[in-house]
Amino acid sequence: MNDQRVREAVEVMLSEIEEDPTREGLARTPTRVAKAMRFLTSGYDTDIETVVNDAIFTVDYSEMVILKDIDFYSMCEHHLLPFFGKCHVAYLPRGRVIGLSKIPRLVEMFSRRLQVQERLTNQIAETLSEVLDPLGVGVVMEATHLCMSMRGVEKQNSFALTSAMLGGFRNDPRTRMEFLELLTLRGGARTRMSPAVSVVGGDAGGE
Ligand SMILES: [Zn+2]
Repeated sequence: MNDQRVREAVEVMLSEIEEDPTREGLARTPTRVAKAMRFLTSGYDTDIETVVNDAIFTVDYSEMVILKDIDFYSMCEHHLLPFFGKCHVAYLPRGRVIGLSKIPRLVEMFSRRLQVQERLTNQIAETLSEVLDPLGVGVVMEATHLCMSMRGVEKQNSFALTSAMLGGFRNDPRTRMEFLELLTLRGGARTRMSPAVSVVGGDAGGE
């Protein structure tokens, strides 16, 4: 990323919305925005190997591993506005597990790119499937999209729910239900979860 060019672009944008880019509060805004953009898109500079970093262990364990309520913050690629919420990840090991702290880091790596929630969900599931070769992977993400809640009064409380189910989580309804029931234990929004891929609201590329 060329910070100078990003700063110039932000200056142009400020002028075009009839603001005065030279007034005190805005003078350093292009610099701050460039810095923020660099951080919010830092996932492009990270790769799977670096994140996983050999934290894969051979174990004699075949029960479901589940990590709930991983906070994530991402930016929608249609409006460059944030969407954020919780990610829940589960997998059924086939003799190999990944260090638990690596899962949130994978979520973070993919979140800090321009995304749509559906692709983000799939990328997390597919990456775990690739690095672990497990019997199955399930990922559920629930998020609030500011491009929806800030722009339309009637959409203020809508959130998007996406899931990616691979292997046993796709083929075996009992495995899938076990995962979803574990998520429901906390109540709240999760009671609305269904095993099918569902998008409540969603960001269907609207203008
Ligand atoms: Zn959007």
